[in-house]
Amino acid sequence: MSLPAHHRPLYQAMLDRGLERWLAQLPEQLARGLDRERHGDLPAWEKAVTKLPPLPERRHVTLDQDTVSVEVALDDSRQRQCHNLLRALSPWRKGPYSLGGVFIDTEWRSDWKWQRLAPHLSPLKSRRVLDVGGGNGYHGWRMAGAGASFVLVIDPSPRFYWQYQAVRHFVGNTDGGAVQFLPVGIEDVPDNLGYFDTVFSMGVLYHRSSPLEHLSQLKAALRPGGELVLETLVVEGDEHTVLLPGERYAAMPNVYFLPSSAALCQWLERCGFSDVRVVDEAVTTLEEQRATEWMTFQSLADFLNPHDSSKTREGYPAPRRAVIIAQRPGG
Ligand code: SAH
Repeated sequence: MSLPAHHRPLYQAMLDRGLERWLAQLPEQLARGLDRERHGDLPAWEKAVTKLPPLPERRHVTLDQDTVSVEVALDDSRQRQCHNLLRALSPWRKGPYSLGGVFIDTEWRSDWKWQRLAPHLSPLKSRRVLDVGGGNGYHGWRMAGAGASFVLVIDPSPRFYWQYQAVRHFVGNTDGGAVQFLPVGIEDVPDNLGYFDTVFSMGVLYHRSSPLEHLSQLKAALRPGGELVLETLVVEGDEHTVLLPGERYAAMPNVYFLPSSAALCQWLERCGFSDVRVVDEAVTTLEEQRATEWMTFQSLADFLNPHDSSKTREGYPAPRRAVIIAQRPGG
């Protein structure tokens, strides 16, 4: 079987960057991640991306501003075509993007999360980065914009894979292939990889039924001395406070542990991380997560108690998120 053209850069990047160990698993992981049986719309997403028109070489790519943007000269009919094909990949949750003059106003102002954590990171320049559960890759592009030499985004959602490929179509090779996307979950990262300089896990921990196992998997992907950037839902309280919601939290069915920041620091220390520190804690606002024309389903406003926005509609504390940075000892 020949390798589809859109997979080649990923193989090449892994070869060039000393990740040969992962290569043997790629064919099976890609086949499984993009298996058409996984989602009825998968063939339509693939088709939308392959129908995007070829673009002129001349383009201006901006990865270090709030909106990930690619300016490229397109006539009106081409721009309309791009708009319709990008719209076919909706809902767009993470962004914003501006691609060939089409502004994608996503459900989340993901740039605000980036603004909250970026000042606290060890500088990303020349670092090799893993973004676990990276959505459609928005933060991955920002990591490359901050100078990372290699960013591997992993996310098991095939829709996000095709959204990434749509953005990649516009970015072209202007990043030298620094950003790559693999449609798998954390459990598919080879054991004890000990490779990445920085590992991000944002918005994932509360979806894991075994959060300490998740933290250990993140640690194993880091080289000794590497940095973990963890962002997750928390509750107020001391190191003994953890909320395990019932069937739903803010309408989401798959939410497990919401610790306090203090408890989360203790979990990280128990998992063998050092230099653990909370760098930000903030209640999510209705401006940061909202329905737009690119995500027309219900959003945060519908998930809160209509009479008391400090509570979810199930009566739990409204979403509050913390960013914690920690180190894998050694190095
Ligand atoms: N990191 C982004 C997106 C968070 S949404 C941000 O902070 O904005 C959570 C993401 O985790 C989703 O895109 C979902 O597809 C992904 N996810 C679900 N299960 C996962 C797993 N086992 N491993 C890695 N990612 C997972």
